[in-house]
Amino acid sequence: MKNLPQHQSESDVHALCSTDDIEQAASRSRIRLVRRPGTIAGKLPWNDVRNGKLWRHGTQLILVLMNVYICTTFYFWVRFYETGGATAYVSRPAGIEGWLPIAGLMNLKYTLETWNIPPIHAASMLLLLAFLLMALLLKKAFCSWLCPVGTLSEMLGKLGKKLFGQTFFPPRWLDIPLRSLKYLLLGFFLYLVVPMPIEAIQAFLMSPYGLIADVKMLNFFRFIGETTLISVIVLAFGSLFIQNLWCRYLCPYGALLGLFSLLSPFKIRRNPESCIDCGKCAKACPSRIPVDRLIQVRTVECTACMSCVESCPAKDTLVFSIAKPTGAPGQTRTRGVSGMVVALLLTLILGGTIGYAKYAGHWETNLPEQFYYRLIPGSQMLSHP
Ligand code: SF4
Ligand code: SF4
Repeated sequence: MKNLPQHQSESDVHALCSTDDIEQAASRSRIRLVRRPGTIAGKLPWNDVRNGKLWRHGTQLILVLMNVYICTTFYFWVRFYETGGATAYVSRPAGIEGWLPIAGLMNLKYTLETWNIPPIHAASMLLLLAFLLMALLLKKAFCSWLCPVGTLSEMLGKLGKKLFGQTFFPPRWLDIPLRSLKYLLLGFFLYLVVPMPIEAIQAFLMSPYGLIADVKMLNFFRFIGETTLISVIVLAFGSLFIQNLWCRYLCPYGALLGLFSLLSPFKIRRNPESCIDCGKCAKACPSRIPVDRLIQVRTVECTACMSCVESCPAKDTLVFSIAKPTGAPGQTRTRGVSGMVVALLLTLILGGTIGYAKYAGHWETNLPEQFYYRLIPGSQMLSHP
């Protein structure tokens, strides 16, 4: 590393380290390095509109704020009925249905068999369909761009790296069986829902428990049991050491999206003709995918976070695209989509789904008020039918 003048900051040091890494890789490589325009040490400035990270973190922030708003408003809506109308009334935020994936699955089965949109928790199914469409088109972008649990998990991982100076990776012999846990959980839920007859789904969703499944979900977190609390603490603590612990090993929703993402036409693709083999993409990948050794990333673990794309110093060499990039350095014919386009597509799918649901009258679960006055105060006593 070069000798540094006294006034240079730590980030300058890192920039120089990265520059040196790139220079070394470029000098080792037989391929001429044509740099991405506007990059410093291989990276775009954080506030550059072409920087995918700016768009992803912006989208994550908006989604976290939206979910905080939804959960807070929902809590006060529940409190209104719990207190028999003694607290201030707020409207029920229909977005809470996004937290009911099992109801969404049941309703999806109901709709596929009857070709009717269900009257109860229809929004949970429409949101599930929107997330599946995202996976079909843009890999598991839902996980790294929209999911608040994914964002929290990512933040804990970053905090852990700051505190302990590194991230720990389970060895491959442990990593592979651990990754299969999320498929076991997904299989368990599919085993419960898929064979269910339509009459049983209807009976469940129209039961007192099913009608206020959203309130039961809130109660699960509000009156959290000892075992669940310990599990949450263990997961949060573990996420400080192992990046995306929940998402990588346990999330059944992510497992389902991953399976759909195999069909995605958009993939991370590498142009070997202009790649200088610096390995920065693989190092940047939070899913530990050896991007530098692949021509295209097919794996279910890719979350389209574009960290690899943003870390690549070579122009148009690593792209999130439909077609394979080919051509000599600086003359790649296929361009990938930018972070801005991914953010726009995700907004379009989510906004379009909500817009359609509102227009068609499927966004709100319209139960008469007296149901809520009757069911919510005793919601803790309701057990699974
Ligand atoms: S391959 Fe790239 S886009 Fe996919 S998870 Fe890894 S860093 Fe993110
Ligand atoms: S694709 Fe990966 S290995 Fe190749 S130049 Fe880009 S960052 Fe380096």
